[in-house]
Amino acid sequence: MFRSVSPQAPRRAYLAAVHTPLQPLLLKSLLLRGAEIAPHSPIVVGGGASPTRLDWAALRDRIARLGAALDGAGIGLNARVGTLLWSDLHHLELSFAVPLLGAMLHPANPRLSDDELAYTIAAAEDRLLFYDPEFEPRIEALARAGRLPTVERFIRCGPLPEQRGGGNGQLPGPPGVETWERFLGADIDRGDASGFDWPDLDESQPAAICFTGGTTGTPKQVVYTHRSCCLHTLGLALTDTMSLSGTDTILPAVHFFHAMAWGIPYAAAMTGAGLVLPGRSLAPEELLHLMIEARVTLSIGVPTVWLLMRAAIERHPDLYPVRHLRRVFCGGGAPTLELSEFFRRRLDCELIHSWGMTELNPVGTSGREIAVVEDLDLDPIERREHILAAGRPLPGLDAEILDDSGRALPHDGEAVGLLVVRGPCVLGGFAPTPTEGVPGGWMPTGDMASIDPRGRILIRDREKDLIKSGGEWISSIALERLILSIPAVRLVAVVARPHPHWQERPVAIVELDAGHTLTLATLQAHLGASLPRWQIPDDLLLEPIPLTGTGKIDKKRIRALLDERGYRLPVGSSPGE
Ligand code: ADP
Repeated sequence: MFRSVSPQAPRRAYLAAVHTPLQPLLLKSLLLRGAEIAPHSPIVVGGGASPTRLDWAALRDRIARLGAALDGAGIGLNARVGTLLWSDLHHLELSFAVPLLGAMLHPANPRLSDDELAYTIAAAEDRLLFYDPEFEPRIEALARAGRLPTVERFIRCGPLPEQRGGGNGQLPGPPGVETWERFLGADIDRGDASGFDWPDLDESQPAAICFTGGTTGTPKQVVYTHRSCCLHTLGLALTDTMSLSGTDTILPAVHFFHAMAWGIPYAAAMTGAGLVLPGRSLAPEELLHLMIEARVTLSIGVPTVWLLMRAAIERHPDLYPVRHLRRVFCGGGAPTLELSEFFRRRLDCELIHSWGMTELNPVGTSGREIAVVEDLDLDPIERREHILAAGRPLPGLDAEILDDSGRALPHDGEAVGLLVVRGPCVLGGFAPTPTEGVPGGWMPTGDMASIDPRGRILIRDREKDLIKSGGEWISSIALERLILSIPAVRLVAVVARPHPHWQERPVAIVELDAGHTLTLATLQAHLGASLPRWQIPDDLLLEPIPLTGTGKIDKKRIRALLDERGYRLPVGSSPGE
């Protein structure tokens, strides 16, 4: 006997099922997806003689166990957890476990000064601080001086070097320091980790706190949300961005404290790709060894990483049989045509130029060589030169350029204005405090740019790095690109120096490969082939170039060093004198 059922019933049941509340975008789903679809994809963590190896399934379980321990330590919604760690396994686990609990991870930058470090940890209100034993003396000194007032517990991640063994029976280190194992130990039996019940969260829940690199001023605090991180991750994976798939093995040559390693661990989890973390060192030789050993297909870093890698390969052409690398994602500064050609010719690898900022989660644009049908019609030279633009904004990111009075400028590739952006990943997805002259949720980037008719962004310079000479602007990026094409130039920075008549004039600071030299006359002749006389630097200093904590050229430091030395422009060398 069939029971009579109203024909509407199944449909009603279906509607009831689909009318569930809006499902949030959460980082948990990225981790679980990786462990589900690619449980045995490799995770390799370098930083020693023999790298640590595990896979996504094992990592998911370790993260859950850590989640239980953090939960037991009272870390829940909106709690802040600080780290002072390199790109190691502890950091990888924390980068998931802390946000999955609804708390915020703050990866502090060990390369900041003590004052800046104490400032960022206090401003982020970190309650726990996980640190590499290497930093124990710094942490201990800051803690004992009362400069880490928000930190309740200090967790040392790894064995102490021999000399700090604590001979008098007392553990050295900050007050109450505990080890990673002890921190985990209390809750090690709370369920087999993969069964840990992560809390339900709203997608607007903050997940991380990052500080800007401080290249141009005091580090600024930026919050990432689950939603902004998930949308950013989806954007990274697109063919027109990094073209990620589960068959990739990805090596971020950027540390977590630089905008959470540009979201690469989340993107690797989501796609089930292999993930290779460099440990402490970003030295080109060590990165190359890891790339070869772990068969890395995609790597991510700032231009100095790729410039130094090129120099290492050129020094020992037979030492590094890099065979699997297919894409190098280069952001945070402007690459040169020569650099991209080197990767193409020597390694059969595409260099993808990207522009971004900590405030954007951080990747803002991506410049694949061919991204739209029109690109197919470009001739070979135009195709190669695409690298000079930083590509197109990731989906969801709106970009405009404004003149001094806040009016939008045409996208003709010529007009240069202040680049402003808005979108779901900008500052975690919340409209910034309205800035004078830029209403409507737009965030001024501090960069001067043009946008070409094909929607590609050309970064001309940071507003603060432009050089104003005789009422005209000189782009330090344009000069640096040309100087980098001189053989044996390893790194270069062009900075403005005050000038009594012209207001400012450019000076080039150049770091050469060992055993080479360069004269001002040679430099000027080289630049004179492409630039008018008034744009050419008046002086050349051959010396090592300081880098910021995120591996970028530290122009703030260079200017300060020149000031400290009482550096003056050479008399009679500038145009018109
Ligand atoms: P910091 O400003 O301290 O370096 P970020 O790492 O957030 O901190 O750097 C963002 C800035 O880096 C951008 O505003 C821009 O000036 C510069 N930048 C990023 N990508 C590029 C690029 N492709 N070309 C030129 N400059 C870039």
